[in-house]
Amino acid sequence: MVKTGQKPGKGTYTCRYCGQKVTLDDRTDTMPPCPKCEKTDFY
Ligand SMILES: [Zn+2]
Repeated sequence: MVKTGQKPGKGTYTCRYCGQKVTLDDRTDTMPPCPKCEKTDFY
């Protein structure tokens, strides 16, 4: 489980609610809210 504001590292994460994929390409990137539904839980 990854939440907005965490730094989960490089990878592609999927919104729990709408399935939108968010890619982080640097391990220092902070997880943003979902760009589609603005929820904060990803896996
Ligand atoms: Zn979403």
